[in-house]
Amino acid sequence: MTVYMEELDAFTYSEKIRAGAPVLIPAGSIEQHGRHMPLHVDTILSRRIAGETAREVGAVVSAPITYGYKSQQRSGGGNHLPGTTSLDGEVVTTIAKSLVNEFARHGATNICFINGHFENYQFLYEGADLALRELKSAGVEDLRIMLLSYWDFVDDATIDRLYPDGFAGWDLEHGGVLETSLMLHLFPEQVDMTKVDDGPPAILPNYDILPVRPELTPASGCLSSGADATAEKGKLLLQHASARMSAAITNEFGL
Ligand SMILES: [Zn+2]
Repeated sequence: MTVYMEELDAFTYSEKIRAGAPVLIPAGSIEQHGRHMPLHVDTILSRRIAGETAREVGAVVSAPITYGYKSQQRSGGGNHLPGTTSLDGEVVTTIAKSLVNEFARHGATNICFINGHFENYQFLYEGADLALRELKSAGVEDLRIMLLSYWDFVDDATIDRLYPDGFAGWDLEHGGVLETSLMLHLFPEQVDMTKVDDGPPAILPNYDILPVRPELTPASGCLSSGADATAEKGKLLLQHASARMSAAITNEFGL
């Protein structure tokens, strides 16, 4: 049976929630990912990784948060780039808060945000915190909310295997080996490796400047090259990250 909420009928969904299934909320973005990948990479990857994890822990995956917080130059190329379509921070916060309230209303007591877009994190955190405060004052005491970004569950040994020439950091991974490999494994028909821009990693200052100086972002929109990406690396990444995410969720929620 599917783990994706929107593919279930309402009665089956309710039974799962009442039986104690955690709800995993994927959070993505509509953001340029170079010439070789589509705009919804963060959304479809967080949804599929959540799906993989949900099967291991008996969770339900909610319909994804499709849009995300504004792309930033030092982690996503910047919000000035064509195609990138983002929400203001307060909107992301409100969406996160509303969803926690909704799933709590359905009877969920364990909720976990599975983030796939670097810039979303603090706004999801704020929404979760506000919802928890509201629900607490309404007498709801048994709700637990977890937040994670899936790349934080890739261990050092896997990083060494994936990046034999050295790892530049997750912020520069935008459109690089991690996302391209996962896409090649899960959605190969949506990747065109002939269009990968194999340039050196972006060199960005250690501060932000507004309005952005567009010339700081590489012309490809990617902050590192995806040329070394393979479907095998994607498979390895998915297995390692989802196994470690499942372990953390199982442990934290006492499943
Ligand atoms: Zn991305």
